Amino acid sequence: PSPPGPARIIAQMNQKGGVGKTTTTVNLAAGLALLGRRVLIVDLDPQAHATLHLGADPGGGAGGEGGSAAARSVYDLLLDSDDNPQAAIIQVAPNLALIPSETDLAAAEAELGAADERHRRLARALAPLAASFDAILIDCPPSLGLLTINGLAAANEVLIPMQAHFLALQGVGKLLETVKLVRAGINPGLTVSGVVLCMHDAQSTHAQEVVADLEAFFDAARTQDVPWRSARVFRPPIRRNIKLAECPSFGKTIFDYAPGAPGALDYRALAEAFAATTPSTAPSPLMTVPLPAAPGGQCPSGQTEVIITPAAQSLNTPPAPAEAPS
Ligand code: ADP
Ligand code: MG
Repeated sequence: PSPPGPARIIAQMNQKGGVGKTTTTVNLAAGLALLGRRVLIVDLDPQAHATLHLGADPGGGAGGEGGSAAARSVYDLLLDSDDNPQAAIIQVAPNLALIPSETDLAAAEAELGAADERHRRLARALAPLAASFDAILIDCPPSLGLLTINGLAAANEVLIPMQAHFLALQGVGKLLETVKLVRAGINPGLTVSGVVLCMHDAQSTHAQEVVADLEAFFDAARTQDVPWRSARVFRPPIRRNIKLAECPSFGKTIFDYAPGAPGALDYRALAEAFAATTPSTAPSPLMTVPLPAAPGGQCPSGQTEVIITPAAQSLNTPPAPAEAPS
């Protein structure tokens, strides 16, 4: 097999809870692992649902009985910049590794507030790991707070798990504004890869209308300099399937729990569709700006134009507000 990396780093983000972030993080990651990709899941949610879903123990330290525990958790990586990120990794399946959460992570948000480089803590911790994986999936908490901002600062792509409901669309507007702020102030390479439709009911007219609205919204952005200009609604949608709701309590992915279930088929197909996309890490389109002619007609370097990326320009603007809108 070819050497892994550098990893696509994908934040699963939606400030609404219960939309399918964790289910998608775990089962998309497991689907990519089955395709032979080397995958790391980072559980950034103090609820530690992804950690539990994978049958591991939350909480750095010896851990309890049953699951496997790393000596460290994502909490240690966020708060101790000297911590060795390798020490936090647990191998949960072939090709599938995890940096677990712990409930102390709830306190991390407050403690981080006082730390230097508080937005870039996770980015700094994950940087040395990117060469060892093909994909790093970050399960963000259901908020737009400092933990999620750390997830966005570390990522190069955002995936938005959501349900096709009208009110969910409203939330996506706010989410995209946050991504825009993070790109402008902290992470100029950040793009939105798209939406994963979770618990989807393809028969519902309402759901069909919401999907059509979403696609029209993304299409209208193709020529704009926004992080979602290449975003898509991924296919297939993930159907509502009770096996997906059952498998976390067994500490198993859908592929281990019910490999023939619709949920397994959908996440397998989603993993294939996702793997077939090119990592959308490309910076926003280049703008060419003519240089004023130098006296004597020639530009000093012989160039006639200079290339300015909007991202580079936005780096010169003041950083985003310290606290994300919530
Ligand atoms: P989030 O991480 O956004 O809070 P979860 O992934 O935990 O959302 O999903 C919320 C609940 O819905 C969980 O109980 C999960 O098992 C269940 N669930 C998620 N996707 C599906 C699905 N496609 N079919 C049935 N239940 C699902
Ligand atoms: Mg979750």
